[in-house]
This record gives sequence, structure tokens and C-alpha cells, in this order.
Amino acid sequence: MYAGYSLLARILHLLTLGSPLDTLMGEGQRYLEFLRRVQNEDAVLFVMVVQQAALCLKGRSIGLTSLSDGNNNEAEQLIIMKVKKALVPLQGYYLFKCMTFYILGDYENALDMAEESEKLSEEALCQSYHADHYLYFSLAVTSAWPGLSLLRQLRLKALLKRNLRKLAGWAKHSPENFQHKELLVAGEIARINGASYQAISLLEKAAASARVNGFIHCVAIASELTARVYMTQGAGTAAQACILKARDGFNTWGASAKVKLLEDCYPDWCTTQEMIPSLNEEITHTSTAASTTSGSGTLDMMTVIKVSQAISGEVYLDRLLHLLLGFVIENAGATRGLLILKRDGKLFIEAEGTTDPDSTIVLLSLAVDGCRTLPESVINYVTRTTDHVVLDDAATSGKFTHDPYILENMPKSVLCTPIINQGRMTGVLYLENNLATGAFTKQRLKVLDLLSSQIAISIENARLYEGLKSATSELEVYSRTLEQKVEERTKELSEEIQIRKRAEEAAEKANRIKSSFLSTVSHELRTPLTSVLGFARIIKKKLDESVLPALKLEDKKAAKALGQIREVTEIIVIEGERLTVLIDDVLDLAKMEAGKITWNVQQISISEIINRAATAVSSLLEQKSLELIKESDEGLPQIYGDRDRLIQVVINLLSNAWKFTNDGSITIHTILTPEYQGRQFIQVGITDTGIGISPEDQDKVFEKFRQVGDTLTDKPKGTGLGLPICREIVEFHGGSIWVESVQGKGSTFFFTIPAVPLENLQNSLIQTGEDHK
Ligand code: ADP
Repeated sequence: MYAGYSLLARILHLLTLGSPLDTLMGEGQRYLEFLRRVQNEDAVLFVMVVQQAALCLKGRSIGLTSLSDGNNNEAEQLIIMKVKKALVPLQGYYLFKCMTFYILGDYENALDMAEESEKLSEEALCQSYHADHYLYFSLAVTSAWPGLSLLRQLRLKALLKRNLRKLAGWAKHSPENFQHKELLVAGEIARINGASYQAISLLEKAAASARVNGFIHCVAIASELTARVYMTQGAGTAAQACILKARDGFNTWGASAKVKLLEDCYPDWCTTQEMIPSLNEEITHTSTAASTTSGSGTLDMMTVIKVSQAISGEVYLDRLLHLLLGFVIENAGATRGLLILKRDGKLFIEAEGTTDPDSTIVLLSLAVDGCRTLPESVINYVTRTTDHVVLDDAATSGKFTHDPYILENMPKSVLCTPIINQGRMTGVLYLENNLATGAFTKQRLKVLDLLSSQIAISIENARLYEGLKSATSELEVYSRTLEQKVEERTKELSEEIQIRKRAEEAAEKANRIKSSFLSTVSHELRTPLTSVLGFARIIKKKLDESVLPALKLEDKKAAKALGQIREVTEIIVIEGERLTVLIDDVLDLAKMEAGKITWNVQQISISEIINRAATAVSSLLEQKSLELIKESDEGLPQIYGDRDRLIQVVINLLSNAWKFTNDGSITIHTILTPEYQGRQFIQVGITDTGIGISPEDQDKVFEKFRQVGDTLTDKPKGTGLGLPICREIVEFHGGSIWVESVQGKGSTFFFTIPAVPLENLQNSLIQTGEDHK
């Protein structure tokens, strides 16, 4: 049994390691015979899964991604594993099925299989291939990514992170076995996040780690993924190199189905390799100048790839131009080179160099127009035609022998080629060799051509990056200015706050002075007034009860004088009482305005308030035979408020109604208002049939000391403070007060009190109370 498991482990190791699939299949076949003999069913099933997966990768199954062949049926095997609950091989089946789907480009199915494998992933715990689950699961996710729903992406992103964490943990302890897997997943995460440069760097490191540690299939996978990133960057040359590397890797592994797939997908690229040796031969053969100017002089394909990769990773324009020109001069066998770029429709020399790398000058920005250090006619020709110019001996043959620069400097070989990206000319590369004739062969030109679009893209990217950098620094300046402005404004605001605070303090102080003044004054007034009023009442009482009845009023003069004394005393009493009321009102109002009143808020019923007020004024009404009518909605809710203060409001309004009504009636009607914006009010209206108030006076009646209308005839009593006090009380309760009146017909004074739950009222009371302060 255990021998069987050991053999199974061996097979799984071979697959995980990326050992040649032929070796794996050969060994697998031998082991199967043994495993069948010892009836180790699980091991048989599992080895068969591996065998069939290898078969599929080799392109020997029926259908691209099927694990069936003439001898074995995948569907049957799957059923057997399920029926027998052979979970370990079943998990292996899902995992390796995911792997084959992934490698053969069916990412959606790969992901489905990965999710099945995930469900059983515990079955693979402690097995060497367990890490493969996290690897292929992640790769399936990142490759299927663009087609996934947002929801699925969200869920899978979390799993990707988990997978990376797992692999990173293992890689820390055993980088030889796991680092390439971690880097592959990290690179892919960077790729789907749009961090292309980071992705390339990680994937290249993954390939390097896999190569060093012998995981050839992972070198191939990493290379294919790198190509994918290069393709999105438009870096065709680099992408091609990676595809070729991938093809090599898969080929060494023995995954012929994948090799074919790559060749079918990239038919042009996959034939280039055959072109290279002949190209190299020719270059070596004709490169006389190169041998005098550079060590190798051979511009082979690998150099192109190397350079392509190097320049695609360089984002700083100055460094890029330096790198580019240095490379081109060295490898093309030139003695001098110019990199000319188009900006705003004009050409500028941006870099100039010679065989001495230290002599290279970049970011020159010298206009080509009128420049005497290059053959302008050659440059113009290339710009106009976007064709190359190769001159074997510029001074003696070709169309440009009359160019002033050529006449003066007598360069021998000249090569001028446009830099083209997506059909647009973005610059010109000018090379010359003034030591050797015929230095620039057509093959050199071909290689430069291959690099042209990569050069253009890299320059474009670097320019974008420069733009971004300057935008960022502008943004920094702006944000610094903004910070400064915010600081200034904060200072201004705090000054404003200080000023307002001082004003508030001054107002507060004035208020304090005012209320202390009022209480002092009213006290000072009230004390003598109490005496005056008291004595006047005593005099009146004495006159009425003792003096007048006891006197024999024969003396008409004395009788008249006593009558006058009585009258005057009565006036003193009446005016004294009025003055007392006035002082009380003034003090009351001052206290309310200063928020110095203690409110006794409790649950009360509005009808109780109305009844108590009506009783208080009933004797008054009787004096004028005015009828008091009460109308009320049924079942009014309770309200919360200060009972005595609200009674004071109703008494005030009733006595005003009484004061200004000579006959007719006074009606008190109470209703619950309809709900509006979630709020309801108890509304009380007191209607009289009196003199009414003119429209222009209706607003004024709530002002302090305001008595409107004909004050001579209509104002026998009153202070002009009753309504302002009512308004203070009503507004404190969160209600409002107003009047509707028709002159000569009568008035209705309305007030409302919110019908709200206690806690809401308390909140509004707190706010109102604070307003008052
Ligand atoms: P007063 O103590 O003078 O009545 P109020 O503030 O209560 O002071 O009223 C202010 C003025 O409003 C009154 O002087 C009067 O001119 C007018 N007024 C108040 N109620 C009525 C009413 N029911 N009918 C007519 N005028 C009224």
C-alpha cells in the first residue's frame, strides 16, 4: 500500500516539478501496472488522472482539453471517483484539469475547475502539489478576469490575496520551490491592477526563479504572461521574444499541444527564430565598420530583445535617450548618432552621441531647421517619405552628395530611418560612420525597424511620464498654495470668531445690565407704589365707609370737595394698579427675553387650560353680557407645556377680546391641525365680534408697547405688552401666534402648540431656551 503511495508521490512530484512529460508518462505507465497489482485503487485513479492530463498537454487526447483517449474515458473515471468517494484523486482531477484548461487557454473552465478543487482542497493538505492548487487557481482567476462579473471579481480578489499570502509564506521558507509561484501570482495581480511595469518585473523574476530551480513549465507560463503585458503596451518586439521563450519552455516540457497553440496564435512571430541565424550571418559578414567600432558588432535578435526590454522599462526621458542612442551607436557600428524627435510638427535633435558613451548629450532640443551638424536634405527626405536612407559612401554616391553638411564633413556611411508608431512618424534616427564605407547593411536596418515602434512607444511613455511629473509638481505647488490659503482663511475665521465672541460677550453683558437694571428699577418703583396704592385704597375705604356716611353734607362746597377727593383717590388706585401691572409685565418680558424664566413643563390638556382661563374672565364677560362659546375637536391629544403660562396666554387674549368688544360673543375654538411634514399642532382661535384691527396694524400688535387704532377712544386700559408676552410664551413652546381681523367686524387671535411626543418637545424646548439666552 505504502509503496503504492510512494510511487504516486513520485509521479505527482514529476508533474509539479515540470519534468518532461514523456518521462512522467513512461514512469506512470510502469507504476500503474504495480498499483493495479497491489489494488491500490486511489493511487491507480490518481496516477491515471496525471497520465491523462499529460496526454492532453501532449495533444494526444481526443479534443484539445479532453482527458479522454482511445483507452480511457474521462467522464467514466470522474463518475468512479465520485461514487467511490475517492476524494484525494478527485481533488487532483479538478486541480490538474484546471491546469490543462489554463495552459490550453480555456480560462473560464479552468476557473470552474479551480473552484471545484478549492472545495476539496483539504484533501491535498501536506502534499507537494498543494501549492499548485493556489498557483493555477490564481492564474485561472487573473486570466478569466475581464469576463467576470463585478461580484465574482470582488469575491475572487479576496481569494487571490489569500493565495498570494499562502504562496508567500511557503516561499519565505523554501524559495527554491515556491518563490516563482509567489512571483507569478503577484505579477498577475499587478497586471490585472494595470501596473504593467511592476507586472513585467515580477513576471520576469518569476521566470528567472523558475529557470534557476528547474521548473521549466513555469518559465514558459511566466514568459507567456509577460508577453501578454508587453502586447498591451504595444511592445511587439519584446512580446514576441517572450512568446518564443514560452514556446521553447513548453516544448522542452513536452506540452506539444500548447506549442502548437502558440504557433497557431502567433504564426508570424513563431517563424522569426529561423530568420535570425541568417540575419546574424549576414550582419557578421558585412560588418566591417562594426568590427572597428564595437566589441561584438553583431546586432542579433537577443540583443534586440534585451534592448527592447531595457528601454521599455525606462520612464525617464533623459535616461531613455541616453540608453537608446548608446545602444544603437554601439550595435549598429556607427561613429556618431542623432536622435531626432517631432514636437508640435517640428523636428528637434534631442540626443547626440558618439562611440564614447560619456560624450552623449541628451535633451538638447536643437531645431533641425537650419542646423549645420546634420545633412538636412537626408532628414527632410526621410521625414517626407517615411522611407529609409542608407548611403554606403555619402560623399561620393547617392542623391545627397550636394548636401552642405555632407560636402563639408564627408561622412562615409549614413543611415537614416524614421521612428514610426502606429503609422505615425514621431522621430528620426540618424547614424553615420565616417571611418568605413558600407557600414550599414539592410539587415541592420531591419533590426532597427523591429525596434522602431518600441523606441517610439518608450519615448511616448517617457514623455507622458514627464508630463505627469510636471503635472504632479504643479499639483504640489497648487496644494501648497491651497494649504496656505486654508491657513489664511482659518486665521481670518478665527479672528472673525473672536470678534463675534467679543460682541456676544458684550451683548450678554448688556443683557445682564439690562435685566439687573429692570429688576432694580421695578423694585424701586414697586416699593413706593405699593405704599401709594395701599394708602390710596385705605383713604378710599375710609371715605366710603366712615367719612362720607358720617358727614352731614350741608356744606355743599365741602361735599363737592370730598366728592372730588374720592374721585381722585379712585383714579390713584386705578392708575396705581395699572402701573403695577405694567411693571410686572415689563419685568416678565425682560426675564423671558433674557431666558431667565423657569418653565414648569408638564403634560397638560388644552381644554383644562381653556376652562381655567374662561373661569378667570367670566366675571368680566358678565359685565358686558358677552356670550362665551367653546368649540373643540374631539379627542385632542395632550400637550406638553407650562400650564400657568399657557393660561396666561388665553386670559390675555380673552381679556383683549373683552376689551375691544362691546356686544356679541367671544368664541374659543380648538382643533388638531392636519399632519404636515410629520408634525401636528393644537390650534386655538379666540374670535370676538369687536372693533377689529386694520390690516396695516395687524402685524404691529405683537410689538412691545404697541397699541393700535384710535388710542383715544379704544384704549381705556392696557400696557401694550400683553401680546408680546403671549408671543414669547407661545414661541417658547415651539408654536406661533397670529391675528386675522376685519375692521368693524371682529378679530381672531390664533396660537398653536405642537402636539408632539415629550422627547421631541424637550429637544425643541432646549433649542428655544438656548435661543432665548
Ligand atoms: P394692551 O395691553 O394694550 O391690550 P396688547 O399687547 O394686549 O396690549 O395689545 C396691543 C394692541 O393690540 C391693543 O392695544 C389693541 O390696539 C390691539 N388689540 C389686541 N387685541 C385686540 C382685539 N381683540 N381687538 C382689537 N384690537 C386688539
